[in-house]
Order: sequence, then structure tokens, then C-alpha cells
Amino acid sequence: MEKTIFQKIIDKEADAKILFENKKVIAFYDINPKTKGHFLVVPKVFSRNLKTIKEKDMTYLFKIARKLALKEIKKLNVEGFRLIVNNEPCSKQVVFHTHVHIIPSESEK
Ligand code: AMP
Repeated sequence: MEKTIFQKIIDKEADAKILFENKKVIAFYDINPKTKGHFLVVPKVFSRNLKTIKEKDMTYLFKIARKLALKEIKKLNVEGFRLIVNNEPCSKQVVFHTHVHIIPSESEK
């Protein structure tokens, strides 16, 4: 089976602007950001989406996603963020490797 773009990023076969990485997860900025600072958090162990991810991997993923989100909004000096996970094509999932979108809110004018 052809590797997904996220697997290629994990395996360092494709470039990404990485903001965090450890043994279990990698986080990098979205190539097509919805707002400034939009990034993705991806577990290194493969699962297609939240329908099949192991509960312990999901718990860890959300814990890190929240931690990174808090850091990013502080850096951007914005109030909040959206956390989105798309599951299956009917819900707009395009890359079939579980990932959390962190979308910082727009800064107030
Ligand atoms: P989803 O619809 O939840 O599957 O979203 C996939 C996301 O991955 C989209 O927001 C894309 O812009 C993003 N994306 C696709 N390829 C890359 C890449 N090479 N580097 C960073 N983000 C990417």
C-alpha cells in the first residue's frame, strides 16, 4: 500500500515544518492553513482515524494536542482555538492517518 503523506513526513521522506516531535507523536504546520498557526498532531503508530485508534494512543494524542495548542495561542497572542478531527470521507477526511487539527482563532482587530 502507498504510504500516506503523513507517514512520509514521519519517516522523513517528505518535508514539513515540524513544531514538536517525540517517540509517539509528530506535530507540523498545515500546508494549507485555515488561520495563522494551524497545525496538525499525528500519532506515529498508524490508525486510519478515531474509529479505530487505540484508546491509550488517542488519550495521549489529545493530551499533547492541547498542550501544543496552549503554547501556540500564547505565542500568537490569541484567545482560543478549534480542535477538529475528520473521520472518513463523508466527514471531509482526506489523509487517512489519524490527525488532530489545531486551528488558532483569528486575532482580534
Ligand atoms: P483532513 O481533511 O482532516 O484529512 O486534512 C488533511 C490536512 O492535511 C489538510 O488540512 C491539508 O492541508 C494537510 N496537508 C496535506 N498535505 C500536507 C503536507 N505535506 N504538509 C502539511 N499539511 C498537509
